[in-house]
Amino acid sequence: MPARRINPFRVRMHRSYSVQELAACCGVHKNTVRNWQANGLEANEPRRPYLFQGERVRAFLTKANAKRKSPCTPGTIFCFRCRAPRAPALAMVEYTPHSPTGGNLRALCDHCEGLMHRRVRKADLASVMPGIAVHITEGQPRLISRPSPSTNCDFQGS
Ligand SMILES: [Zn+2]
Repeated sequence: MPARRINPFRVRMHRSYSVQELAACCGVHKNTVRNWQANGLEANEPRRPYLFQGERVRAFLTKANAKRKSPCTPGTIFCFRCRAPRAPALAMVEYTPHSPTGGNLRALCDHCEGLMHRRVRKADLASVMPGIAVHITEGQPRLISRPSPSTNCDFQGS
């Protein structure tokens, strides 16, 4: 599998690429293109020199990217340090609302203790973190920066 995501739109739909051209176009090594081939990217003809149709390459990369997204199972957050979905350490999770309907989950990875983030809809909290008492924190300190009500009183008092 490719080590990183490749934008499928770098490849032109109506053009065929040799292994070398495709590698250059996607910014990967020729061996990566051979891996793609081993993983299901079909050449126009099943013999060398291989040519790959842009449309097919795009479809392949799009599918590969979708697979790599690896949606987290309930009770886990994707840890970018481990590059895997991990459970929160000590079953401690914080939720910071960004809007009335959604926010951000924060927890420490139980594997590497790195900080993990995951956006969730508020309605999904219970299903995303089943059995975990999610601690809901205040949002951005919007209330504090609001002008104090005493301004109005001063105006009236004089
Ligand atoms: Zn981790």
